[in-house]
Amino acid sequence: MSEILERIWEYRQISRVELVELTGLTSGTITNLTHDLIQLGILRENEAISGNVGRRRVMLGFDPRFYRIIGLDIGRTSFEIIVMDLNGTILQSIEREMNGVQGPEAYFQVITPTLTTVKQEIEAAGEKILGLGVGIPGPIHYESGSLLAPPNFPGWKGYPLKQMLEQQFDLVTLIEDDARTSAMAERWYGLGKSVQNLVSITMGTGIGGGVVTNGKIVRGTNGLCGQVGHMTIVLDGKMCDCGNRGCWETVGSIPGILSRWSQGSTLMELQTAIRQGEPEALRCIDETLAYLEAALVNVQNLYDPELILLGGRLFPLLAEHLDQLKPRLQSRLYAFAKDRLRIEPATFGTSQSAVGAAALMLGFLLSEPVRLLSLQDS
Ligand SMILES: [Zn+2]
Repeated sequence: MSEILERIWEYRQISRVELVELTGLTSGTITNLTHDLIQLGILRENEAISGNVGRRRVMLGFDPRFYRIIGLDIGRTSFEIIVMDLNGTILQSIEREMNGVQGPEAYFQVITPTLTTVKQEIEAAGEKILGLGVGIPGPIHYESGSLLAPPNFPGWKGYPLKQMLEQQFDLVTLIEDDARTSAMAERWYGLGKSVQNLVSITMGTGIGGGVVTNGKIVRGTNGLCGQVGHMTIVLDGKMCDCGNRGCWETVGSIPGILSRWSQGSTLMELQTAIRQGEPEALRCIDETLAYLEAALVNVQNLYDPELILLGGRLFPLLAEHLDQLKPRLQSRLYAFAKDRLRIEPATFGTSQSAVGAAALMLGFLLSEPVRLLSLQDS
């Protein structure tokens, strides 16, 4: 069943005959399985006209009418909830600033009423929630669904997030590091649909990364794969929350950059000062780009992606300088590979992690449809 769903996702609209050719399953099996998936509200038939003679063909695609996926991004300074259909169309998006709100208890006092309303509205419309995907600053203890020790996120260490959400909302729930959900967003809904190897880097209060290799998200032994913010970039640098010294995050995140500029305290002030040619601000941005350049060379050499995606609240500042960065990077890469380097902005802007949180549930549906659907009734 998984193979059928993955092919339909890949082609969007496909006939049963094409499914037989692509999967090697018998036409009887395809007929039975797609019949079940149509009955369940996962797939639907559409008529398409093909060829010169205008022959009508029945095509299969995902059914956007019945199932809904909720994506929740819990960020350090804001949260976002999105509602998506099975085609990946965003039907609703709610975002709220959470500056100064510390710890899970205070946080959920704000989130719970909003999420409850969203859930009730979906159910009142006769639709069904397939599940809740959540992106949050990691690392995460996946077996227990709790947070390990997220840097710069006081009060959340050890918090049993998955269990709490399941009890409170009675929904199938998946949680994932927000840098990895951002990569998921690209893998399933963005540029990763056509690219097998990519690294998504999110730069804001921290610097996170998500790695897709051969079309699969990679977690590693401890869920730390792609923690690009904690690569050592200054040998005798400042201590980092992770226990290492001189991490890229200590100099290249928003707080890291501002700590190297004595003239102001916000990113906006820095951006203005750079435009006005203020010497200290120019020195600060030059240094920032040098760190970024070294970090991206490391990323390229370690993961060998076709595509590096950059996003997060810091990205607008860096975007103005990307053109000068690319030749500098190319000069430091293997000559035969340098022309293939692609750096692009993340597809979904500030909604990247929330879209990726919803993508968690889509990935679950495509890889383990029987298990996910059986959880709907239990
Ligand atoms: Zn670190």
